[in-house]
Amino acid sequence: MSKNKSSSGEVYLVGAGPGDPGLVTLRAKECIENANVIVYDHLANPETLSWTRDDAEIIYAGKEPGGSQLSQQQINALLIEKAREGKQVVRLKGGDPFVFGRGAEEAQAIADAGIPFEIVPGITSAIAGPAYAGIPMTHRAHNSHVTFFTGHEDPAKAESAIDYAALAKLGGTQVMLMGVERLGSITSEMLKHGVRGDLPVALVCSATTGQQETLTGTLSDIAQKAVANDFKAPAVAVFGEVVSLRDGLNWYEKRPLLGKRIVVTRTRKQASALSNKLRALGAQVIELPTIRIEPPSDLREFAELVQDAHIYDWIVFTSANGVEAFFDIFFKLYDDAREIGGARIAAIGPATAQRVKDFHLHVDLQPDEFVAEAVLREFKKQGSIENLRILLVRAEKARDVLPKELSAAGAILDEAFAYRTVPETRDASGARRQLAQDGADLITFTSSSTVENFLALGLPWPKGMRIASIGPITSKTVRDRGLKVDVEARRHDIDGLVQAIRGLFEKS
Ligand code: SAH
Repeated sequence: MSKNKSSSGEVYLVGAGPGDPGLVTLRAKECIENANVIVYDHLANPETLSWTRDDAEIIYAGKEPGGSQLSQQQINALLIEKAREGKQVVRLKGGDPFVFGRGAEEAQAIADAGIPFEIVPGITSAIAGPAYAGIPMTHRAHNSHVTFFTGHEDPAKAESAIDYAALAKLGGTQVMLMGVERLGSITSEMLKHGVRGDLPVALVCSATTGQQETLTGTLSDIAQKAVANDFKAPAVAVFGEVVSLRDGLNWYEKRPLLGKRIVVTRTRKQASALSNKLRALGAQVIELPTIRIEPPSDLREFAELVQDAHIYDWIVFTSANGVEAFFDIFFKLYDDAREIGGARIAAIGPATAQRVKDFHLHVDLQPDEFVAEAVLREFKKQGSIENLRILLVRAEKARDVLPKELSAAGAILDEAFAYRTVPETRDASGARRQLAQDGADLITFTSSSTVENFLALGLPWPKGMRIASIGPITSKTVRDRGLKVDVEARRHDIDGLVQAIRGLFEKS
């Protein structure tokens, strides 16, 4: 999306992939980030909407049974109208935009209207579904071609578009999208046309998400099994010998947190490190940022303190956010890291220390716990802090135990307010609605402010949702608010938290 095109609108028909946010293309992400308008489908992963600009207009055009819907014509008209207003319009569709799901018709309507457009292919569920179920589409020993077909057609209809006789003759691997509800009549048509009853069949439901489930059987019994197991859309069906390879290749469904729904409350920017680790373990993550990091109320004062950093004996960082805000300004003022002079650096907690090290600076003191006593103890190991000049880099309105204790121990203390934590008001991905609707197994809190701000949202507490906390301070806030901490990280960082969550679910 080049800037010089901004006067004329354009439509991007973008594939959002099958569900796992890791399966979205770089180009799709870029289009979503730049869009003025996003028109998305029921099957497009809502997580991708969190990449949108703050001022983007987000329109749901899902075709969920029962929900309010836009007709195909209305969707086409909407895309055209928004583009004519000069907007960059992203039409976000599940999987690949040209694999079923009427993307082709939308493209034609846009082309007919003379509007410039781009097609961004996506990973289709027809390919990703089998792959995440451990079913290779092809194997030299089993097949030499693959067929995609839609089960949307009602086979009882006089003029079915699906040529079952041809499908039966073709053999190979056949992948069906849509129509799990009609599986009974579809399989009986296939049997009628001479496909063998013991042909292996798999149904992969909610593929590539933390809720993926696979059901295997044969052409004769799969429909009945699907009913017995209450198998629901969206699902892809795979017919063919390759299905039997799943026995040895099933990988995704073996992940330890598969099926667990976990809420991540960190800032949008910081969420991904935790979310990705949980997803890698198979969890379904609901990113529900409760806080946002903003510049401090007095940015000038902060900048002046950063400028004078070299006059201090110690600079103490209490959070990774503080480190980032500090060096952001520091390197705007100076182009040489040595301008920090003789100041030594203390960083509380491993994540904070890591952020300092990212700037290639040595951490001289690293108390593991963010408890005033622990920090003082570590300082005292290095000798007295009496009359030492200390710059404490911290959030506005944070707890003030540490500054008090440092002053009480005789330090000459200046506090630098590096950032402000404010409640996140945006909910582009609809995470709050999703949580209220579907509930969750666990919520993660990574700071006291995530606890406070989550509770301030006033959402009803989902039944059975447990709590994981990153450390003692966060846990205390949870308990002060009358809630129970089910697990606390032993190491107070993201890896420690993830480890604790694994432990919790392995136990229960
Ligand atoms: N363009 C989409 C398909 C749209 S048709 C794509 O390329 O994936 C909608 C059908 O896609 C659903 O009925 C279902 O059969 C399939 N589908 C989409 N996402 C799916 C998912 N995560 N798991 C299983 N099937 C899915």
